[in-house]
Amino acid sequence: MSLKEYRAKRNFSVSPEPQGAATPKARRVRELFFCVQKHLASHLHYDFRLEHDGVLLSWAVPKGPALDPTVKRLAMKVEDHPIEYGDFEGVIPEGYGMGIVMLWDQGTWEPLVDDVNAALKKGDLKLQLHGVKLKGSWALIRTGGDGRSWLLIKHRDEWAGPLDIATFAPLSVKSGGDLTDIVASESPSLWQSNRAGTAGSAGLLKIVEKAVALKAERDAQTARPDAPAADPAARRHSSAAKTRKPAPSPAPKAPSTTAASTKRSRPRTRAASGRAARSPGAKNPPR
Ligand code: MN
Repeated sequence: MSLKEYRAKRNFSVSPEPQGAATPKARRVRELFFCVQKHLASHLHYDFRLEHDGVLLSWAVPKGPALDPTVKRLAMKVEDHPIEYGDFEGVIPEGYGMGIVMLWDQGTWEPLVDDVNAALKKGDLKLQLHGVKLKGSWALIRTGGDGRSWLLIKHRDEWAGPLDIATFAPLSVKSGGDLTDIVASESPSLWQSNRAGTAGSAGLLKIVEKAVALKAERDAQTARPDAPAADPAARRHSSAAKTRKPAPSPAPKAPSTTAASTKRSRPRTRAASGRAARSPGAKNPPR
C-alpha cells in the first residue's frame, strides 16, 4: 500500500486534491472508513474506496454500485488514495482526473474475512458496508485477466433490492447538492465562464456542460408524476447530522420490515457520526 502512484499522477500545484500525509497517521478509532465518490471526468464513474492499512484501496466502477444481487458491476482497481481523500469534493481543473468529484456515499466498513491482505491476494473480499446509501453485505471478486478487473456484487440480504440507487439517490452526502452545485460553490469563476461561454479550459467546460445536461435530464425525470423525490438520502442525512437524531434511511424494498427497522438505527447513527466526528484527515481538504 503506497501513495507513490497517486502522487506521481497529479500536479498538486493545480489540483485541489489532497496529497496525503508523508507518514499516514494512525487513527485512534477502530472503525474502518469507506466512501464512494461520483466522478464526472471524461466518463462518469463511481470511485469505491475502502480504508485499509492507512490508505484507501480504490476501484473505479463505471456504472456505480447496484443493489440487485444479480447485477455484477465492473470495478477497475486503481491506485491507492490517501485517507484524506475520503471527504474530498470539488473540481479538478486539469490533468489526471480532470472533472468534478462528489462525495456520493460515506460510512464505515467491516471485512467479513479474517485476513484482508489474503483476501485481496486471492481476489475475493467479502465485506459489510454501513453507509448512508450502501448497506449490508457485498463482495469484490477479481475476474482474472490483467488483475485490475474486479466485480462489485451485492449479496442477498435485507438491503438488496431492485432499486436503482444511483438514480434514486444521485446527490452528495456532504453538501447535499449535485455536480453543478459543486462547480458553482467550489469553482464560481468556472461556473460563470460556463454560463457566459467565455473563459475556462475547453476540456473542463465540456465536463461542466455534461453536468448541466445530467441535471436537466434528472429534472425532467423528477417532473414526471411517478418519479421518486430527488435524493431523500442526502436530505435526511444532512438533517440527521445537524440534529444528531437517527433518521430513516432509504432502504430498498426490504422483504422484512421488522428486520430492516431493527437494523436501521445502527448504520444510520454510524453514518451520521462518520460525517461529523469521524471525518478523515483535515476538516477541509488542502487547496
Ligand atoms: Mn475517478
